[in-house]
Amino acid sequence: TSEESSTGKVIPVRVAVRLRPLSVREIREGCQESIDITHDSPQVSYNVTVLAYGQTGSGKTHTMGTAYVPGIENSEGAGIIPRAVQDIFEGVASQADNEYLVKISFIELYKETLFDLLAGKNNREECVVDIREDPRGGIKIVGVTEIPVTSMQETMRCLEQGALHRATGATAMNAHSSRSHAIFSMHVEQRNTKKGGSVVSAKFHMVDLAGSERAKKTGATGERFREGVNINRGLLALGNVISALCEEGGRGHIPYRDSKLTRLLQDSLGGNSHTVMVACVSPADSNLEESLSTLRYADRAR
Ligand code: ADP
Ligand code: MG
Repeated sequence: TSEESSTGKVIPVRVAVRLRPLSVREIREGCQESIDITHDSPQVSYNVTVLAYGQTGSGKTHTMGTAYVPGIENSEGAGIIPRAVQDIFEGVASQADNEYLVKISFIELYKETLFDLLAGKNNREECVVDIREDPRGGIKIVGVTEIPVTSMQETMRCLEQGALHRATGATAMNAHSSRSHAIFSMHVEQRNTKKGGSVVSAKFHMVDLAGSERAKKTGATGERFREGVNINRGLLALGNVISALCEEGGRGHIPYRDSKLTRLLQDSLGGNSHTVMVACVSPADSNLEESLSTLRYADRAR
């Protein structure tokens, strides 16, 4: 997706600066470091959304790290969630002039109903939450559990608890987890203890989308077909929102309101947000048709 700068200009290419350490030769020649990075300046609030898209079994949950596997955070196979959490806490530890408040929420969207995976209640009905547009801007999930965390370990415990709830719900409701979207969110608030306590905040959404396979392939009828239609509504709306954001830098109408998924992510897609979609595909020839359809979907999002 393209991004806009503070001046409203579309930035098609993101630029990073990598400062290498002095080489052995430079040190031997007596060179001094002349470039210094000021990590905490300028202070900008950025929302980040990472989405994994693809058919069931293509690797979305593995990529996001949505299903907690003990010890995975320290392994090669760690997903995006544990990696992002680690980076955030390392960043927090390196900033002496700032205080941080990090809060976690974890929700599941199934058939246009939102479930709070961290509510700590076994009755699914009691976990239902809903979206409200905040009159001051932004999206609020009314009554959602937000757990304050101060370490990687505490955050991984939230992930584990929510993933367990999702799996239990899936078993109770006839293995629906491939047909629900799981959204793991981190809300980071930074308060500068020196500059008059100025506060900036950012939201990180890690989205493990429902399987993108089409209803016809699952041989869906009746109840299942309805689920398929609903899920396709979310994925279809997401595709349309991303396409609209990519056209003319997103100045036209963006159809956020077409599904709960896009309403939920409304303030985190486009604007000053960073969005990354990971298209997951299976290498098997038996999945070729679905893999092509995933790549076509991803192609619209460029
Ligand atoms: P999805 O969430 O899209 O249904 P999963 O993430 O559950 O798919 O992946 C299906 C299977 O493939 C799992 O057993 C997972 O461990 C394995 N898998 C997925 N991606 C990879 C990968 N990049 N490397 C190794 N194994 C993977
Ligand atoms: Mg999965």
